[in-house]
Amino acid sequence: MSEKEIPYKIYLSESEVPKAWYNVRAEMKNKPAPLIHPGTHQVLKFDDLRPIFCDELVKQELNDTDPWIDIPEEIRGFYRMYRPSPLVRAYCLEKKLGTPAKIYYKFEGNNTSGSHKLNSSIAQAYYAKQQGLKGVTTETGAGQWGTALSMACAYFGLDCKVFMVKCSYEQKPFRREVMRTYGASVTPSPSMTTEVGKKMNAEFPGTTGSLGCAISEAVECATKNPGYRYVLGSVLSQVLLHQTVIGLEAKAAMDKYDIVPDIIIGCAGGGSNLGGLISPFMGQKLRGERDYQIIAVEPASCPSFTRGVFAYDFCDTGHVCPLAKMYTLGSEFMPSANHAGGLRYHGMSSILSQLYHDKLIEARSVEQTSVFEAAEYFARVEGILPAPESSHAIRVAIDEAIKCKETGEAKTILFGLTGTGYFDLKAYEAYNDHKMSDYIPTDADLKKSIDAIPHFPGNLM
Ligand SMILES: *Cc1c(COP(=O)(O)O)cnc(C)c1O
Repeated sequence: MSEKEIPYKIYLSESEVPKAWYNVRAEMKNKPAPLIHPGTHQVLKFDDLRPIFCDELVKQELNDTDPWIDIPEEIRGFYRMYRPSPLVRAYCLEKKLGTPAKIYYKFEGNNTSGSHKLNSSIAQAYYAKQQGLKGVTTETGAGQWGTALSMACAYFGLDCKVFMVKCSYEQKPFRREVMRTYGASVTPSPSMTTEVGKKMNAEFPGTTGSLGCAISEAVECATKNPGYRYVLGSVLSQVLLHQTVIGLEAKAAMDKYDIVPDIIIGCAGGGSNLGGLISPFMGQKLRGERDYQIIAVEPASCPSFTRGVFAYDFCDTGHVCPLAKMYTLGSEFMPSANHAGGLRYHGMSSILSQLYHDKLIEARSVEQTSVFEAAEYFARVEGILPAPESSHAIRVAIDEAIKCKETGEAKTILFGLTGTGYFDLKAYEAYNDHKMSDYIPTDADLKKSIDAIPHFPGNLM
């Protein structure tokens, strides 16, 4: 098929919204390590996880054998309100860069929550409703996940309790009000409503909170309130599974025009969007059918892949959650206060961690001023105001396209554009006012939190 025939936007039809999620774990030779108990280090089974998560989601979390998991019709119905999402050929960006590379991005920002997180929140809310639960609890940092979850809970008539990191609660009143409009209750964390929160407030008076602490509060709230379960917007394997709708749609759209990406790029916070985007391509790679260069992009100020260690670690600061084996900077790691660009979680999906460990994907870290430079360039050329998180992927896509210009190679690049930046205007303001700086932690900074990762036989020993 000739180049000219590829449209700016490749849309699938509604009936092409995937009917099943793709579970890449089924095809991984080296499976991601199982979750273990933080005290006993025993592998956690269905019954151990049931008090925290919904039953069906526990099954998905533990399932590393079934390659396909059906998407219930109710979830597909909701997906069809905003999916399929467009796969966009970035003709304008290519032209502006003067690159022979062909650049595509899968845009997940076309829904009110403004990001891909809705793909998982609607699934998690559905299973909670199916189980007859009253509601769910969660944490949110920047607010995208809390927003996505409150939309999903409103749709299924579930109560939604969000613990929002205090500094975001104060700095992002707009996000907070969107969540409240969808009926969620939003509590600044650390709060005085949980034991963990009271302890944090006593130990660190005036603290503006952290994601790790908000997670501990949300888990405690779920386990202490009958009829509630905890839900999480990233990191877990079930979340990555739900996000495979991104990759399945992207691949189906590309297949229609016989487009094969050479490089696939995504930003990595907890790894769910990148994992979801690459899963069907990784399946081919694992089966030896095709090779792809896959690049995870993370902030230089929170470099889990590029400078972390591969070990069992706590998922939360309160140390109430299971231990996961992942690339981590240590649960006590806090990115510097000048870090505005999201992706600030200390750990990483155990699926992506295993793939990275097995050298099936690579990782790159980028500094935030160069990320915002790319965001501004992209906004001016392609029109979309990107989320700072997504802009990490834009940075590396542009870098790779520039390399193609130098070498004359016409590579095909696919990247995930995970969301819009309308609620990140404080960060854009800092960039526009030239008040944004870069911070790269020193080895000594990282050593402190890495040394606090639990040592036990088989882990860092
Ligand atoms: C949450 C978020 C991310 C990072 O989360 P992953 O689990 O790594 O995908 C990236 N982009 C946007 C817009 C987000 O809201």
